[in-house]
Amino acid sequence: MFGFFGSFAPVARQNNALDILVIHAKIWTDGHLMTANQLGVRDGKIVAIGSGLESRKAPSTLVIDANGHWVLPGIVDCHTHIVESCVKFAFGLKLESVTSKSEFQKKISDQAKLLPLGQWILGGGWSADRFHSKEPPSKAWIDAVSGDHPAALSRMDGHSILLNSAALKLSGITKDGPPDPDGGRIERDSITHEPTGILADRALIFVRTPQPSSADYDKALLLTIDEAHRQGVTTSGDIVRRPLDFVWRKYMERPDRNFRVAMFCRVTDVNSVRAVKNIPGIPGWFEPRGIKLFMDGSMGSRSAFMDDPYTTPLPSQPQDWHGLEYPGARNGAYKEMIDAAAEEQLQVVSHAIGDRSNHDILDLYSHVEGLKSRRFRVEHAQHLRPADIARFGELGVIPSMQPFHKSDDGPYVESVIGSVRAKSSYAFRSLLNSGAKLVFGSDFDVVTLNPWVGIATAVTGRISNGKVWMPEQNISLDQALSAYTCDAAYSMFMENEVGSLQPGHLADFIILDRALKPDGSNVSGAKPVRIFVGGKEVSVPIKK
Ligand SMILES: [Zn+2]
Repeated sequence: MFGFFGSFAPVARQNNALDILVIHAKIWTDGHLMTANQLGVRDGKIVAIGSGLESRKAPSTLVIDANGHWVLPGIVDCHTHIVESCVKFAFGLKLESVTSKSEFQKKISDQAKLLPLGQWILGGGWSADRFHSKEPPSKAWIDAVSGDHPAALSRMDGHSILLNSAALKLSGITKDGPPDPDGGRIERDSITHEPTGILADRALIFVRTPQPSSADYDKALLLTIDEAHRQGVTTSGDIVRRPLDFVWRKYMERPDRNFRVAMFCRVTDVNSVRAVKNIPGIPGWFEPRGIKLFMDGSMGSRSAFMDDPYTTPLPSQPQDWHGLEYPGARNGAYKEMIDAAAEEQLQVVSHAIGDRSNHDILDLYSHVEGLKSRRFRVEHAQHLRPADIARFGELGVIPSMQPFHKSDDGPYVESVIGSVRAKSSYAFRSLLNSGAKLVFGSDFDVVTLNPWVGIATAVTGRISNGKVWMPEQNISLDQALSAYTCDAAYSMFMENEVGSLQPGHLADFIILDRALKPDGSNVSGAKPVRIFVGGKEVSVPIKK
């Protein structure tokens, strides 16, 4: 149609006009606060940081006054289980706040009443370390209140699970068997051999819970990404059990995708390692990066593998209990998988919590050719032999740690492993001093996606009981933020795309509700108020 379109004709955009101009900002990036106070975005990328950028303003430019608050790169969370846990996060029963047996039972009984007859009660987040009694839960607790529903409720760390009698039966676990798998444990009454309902680590392979549908995953993933954005997280290193990578691949086909992922796949053998190389990626959005190995269990489940026995094992564990090491760590299987990954130019990230497991994974890595440039990581690196700390720097192995775990575990760690070993735990500062590149993540859904509480703990040493614990490992705010932004991006080969605000990088940034104080005193309550991914504003539903 021709005619009068003069005043409605699209005005040719000025060549260098900005799409977004942020003014009055305190811009933090790459380890420091800049003197510049303006940031300009065009075509989804940062194009300018400086002052006097008003000259590039056009009528179409979105101008945002940051009011002197901090503007940071979108948070890069190195270690999440978003796809694996989104259904539980979005729809499962939440037991994080439970501190007593009666509360636990009430939650289960309420859920049993809501669900149709026979449907599984699924969820988790409980921790006996948070119960006043410290008594671990058992099937007897929930049999009485779960009615005809099988129930499977994972501990907060996902390394153990509580089943009721109906679920034990469906999973084929009786007083006669099966025997404990290597690297796993079915807790049993010492006299009757009846299972208590608790399964730890590799014994979880016996649990037969129903598979969520693809539609469940799609819906739950969007809700979980909302939560990530709400906390300021715009990229994550997601650990995925195949074939669940299909959930991310489907998401990445959406025109409104606004979350970036580097993916690390759980593997079982050399073939599954090589298969990771063939997963198609989308540069900048979805990057299959490497493989994830498990060396041991967790501190909370007392299954992290320690040189010396636990000071206080769980009641069902023997006195001389060191935790569990996964068989691949010592039977040569991991060595083969690591070599195959190196050959395929894949990264290796390995879960190791106990001091012995950390030692062993450093040994396994140390034989890899050209190790320094490969950016291999140790996930958690939580309890270390003092002599192993320097090896991270020497070998160029990246400790990928979760500062929130220091806050959450801090109140009970010394009672579990004693005060001497606690001194080389959560060794943020010593690791940085060793020359290692320290990076941070949440380990969602083991804990919240909120990075601010963990950053505050890393800076102040203040833990969840309000006390300051091991302040000698405190690091500066700049170091803690780097671990969650530029260095996190480096640990996934994404440092030229995200994690820092520089011309040419993707315009993923957040504006906080405050200016952060260098002593960390106002960090834990920080809230992102505006979130941008690729230069597009993310609207985050308010949480009720
Ligand atoms: Zn994890």
